[in-house]
Amino acid sequence: LKKLFKRHAQAATPVRRAAVLGAGIMGGGIAYTSALRGVPVRMKDIQPSALELGMGEATKQLARGVKNGKLSQERANGVLAAITPQLDSAGFDQVDGVIEAIVENLGIKQKVLAELEGQLAPGTLIASNTSSLRIDDIAQPLQRPENFVGMHFFNPVPMMPLVEVIRGSRTSDAAVSTAVAYAVAMGKTPIVVKDCPGFLVNRVLTAYMRGFLQLVADGADFLQVDRVMEAFGWPMGPAYLEDVVGMDTGSPVSDVISAGYPERMPRLERDALRLMASEGRYGQKNGIGFYRYE
Ligand code: NAD
Repeated sequence: LKKLFKRHAQAATPVRRAAVLGAGIMGGGIAYTSALRGVPVRMKDIQPSALELGMGEATKQLARGVKNGKLSQERANGVLAAITPQLDSAGFDQVDGVIEAIVENLGIKQKVLAELEGQLAPGTLIASNTSSLRIDDIAQPLQRPENFVGMHFFNPVPMMPLVEVIRGSRTSDAAVSTAVAYAVAMGKTPIVVKDCPGFLVNRVLTAYMRGFLQLVADGADFLQVDRVMEAFGWPMGPAYLEDVVGMDTGSPVSDVISAGYPERMPRLERDALRLMASEGRYGQKNGIGFYRYE
């Protein structure tokens, strides 16, 4: 891997200043991790409350680092100052790379990224943190699809080492290398994967989650399934994992993968995930999913 990373590093344009679109679970984590690793980041959202949550989460993580003796207070202050929360696109023309982490909806991503492209310098890397949508589909309205790549981080971003770098059919080698090098600079382990619905990890994970949802539909108790999978050795069971991911993300991801592989993974019509998403039970982010959070 080291050799591979070195080869990409030689072909990359280093990302020295970055921007993230969306300050939610993923955008907040990506901005924090980038700043922690020395790449200052502009974090844009359309909701002031999301920016506050994103900054609050970074502050909490840094305070924990200081308490554990892993960071000095001075360094923690520096990391926080390296995240600029904003509602507009000020300074976007100065960044080397932007990672989009907004809602998992093809039409919205296409519209927001096409608008974004006009605010950036011509060679700027644009990455989407999509969990499942094809990079070629998102890239469709872009003027410079060669700069566009997938960078799929996992939740919680500061803890999870893997990043899937997804190469679309029009993505340039230089953009892939820049994304790989940026992921390495963030302390992550990137793998370059093909552009298909769900990429690698979520194709595997969705099959597992569907197995779980079918078990629940057959009458299994989700609490018991969670305990069993923990005893099996997984860090958390599937119901808890769905709550961490968020039903408003998990449900569209499942639909995109069903649409991509209709014979292997036909759409589940009345599974617990879809039901909870339609009832606004989004999991940890709003305090109720399979479990309740105080
Ligand atoms: P989230 O709902 O926590 O956050 C999305 C944020 O984007 C919200 O704060 C929203 O206000 C903001 N937003 C919406 N439109 C915007 C715009 N035009 N400009 C700027 N901000 C905007 O969602 P999330 O869980 O962080 O998911 C974001 C993306 O990351 C999705 O594509 C999802 O599939 C992907 N992803 C999620 C997970 C996960 O476990 N939740 C894991 C990997 C990838």
